[in-house]
Amino acid sequence: MKRSGKFFLFLSMLFFISCEEIENLNIFSNEDDVQLGQEVVAEIQSNPQEYPVYTKNPAVKDYIKTRIFDHLLASPKIAKKNVYKYTIEIIDNDSVYNAFALPGGPVYVYTGILKYLDTEAALAGVLGHEIGHAEERHATTRMTKHYGVSFLLGLLLGQNPSEIAVIAANLFTGIGFLANSRADENESDEKSFEYLKDTRYYPGAVKFFFEQLRDDGLIGGGGSIATFLSTHPDPLERIASTDQRLRNASLPVYDYKSDATGIYRTEYRNNIKNQL
Ligand SMILES: [Zn+2]
Repeated sequence: MKRSGKFFLFLSMLFFISCEEIENLNIFSNEDDVQLGQEVVAEIQSNPQEYPVYTKNPAVKDYIKTRIFDHLLASPKIAKKNVYKYTIEIIDNDSVYNAFALPGGPVYVYTGILKYLDTEAALAGVLGHEIGHAEERHATTRMTKHYGVSFLLGLLLGQNPSEIAVIAANLFTGIGFLANSRADENESDEKSFEYLKDTRYYPGAVKFFFEQLRDDGLIGGGGSIATFLSTHPDPLERIASTDQRLRNASLPVYDYKSDATGIYRTEYRNNIKNQL
């Protein structure tokens, strides 16, 4: 069907792309991202031991979805919301302070980070960051780079395209799939900052989680935080970058302890933190 079209598109692209574009080359289509993400969703659902879905109080997920996630998705800057399948799911594991996004839209957040955060703005910052990874297609761009264009093209053109789903699943089960580069992290923070500007939430809140970790002495430590830091590098640098973005936009620089407009601490405690 459209596989040969993809091949010729790729050939013609080769004549026009710059070095920077090679760096960000992605031979997958948006529809491929959706399909890959759904394959991994199936993997996750088939492994409830490692990914137990949180079910104790369904009102928490409903609240996060309608109040924060859907509110974020209303930002016109989230351009692929009609192509991708943006969904939110909570994984019931208090020892994991993390969230992640799959290609094509599925976002997962652990109860560990939900219980640790203290404001709606901070959670919106985290979710905006994860949506940024999906929108910017960091996973399939990384897959293109990792496996090499010729190898992946062979799969796309070959008899067994389901091999790609197998690769995606294998990548996901290894940390490699989730280990974002510094450039990807910075770009996702930038996106989150921009999305939050279109919401009721303080745009600088994308850094709140890191400020909290820093003040609690949890950066550089081991344990559950190590997992998060291995997939989300350079927390201190990311605080500084967000502060710079705030100054560039002539916005006030607040930290995670602030109760200024756009923070929503009481709402977070009443509807999320104390309901888990
Ligand atoms: Zn990230």
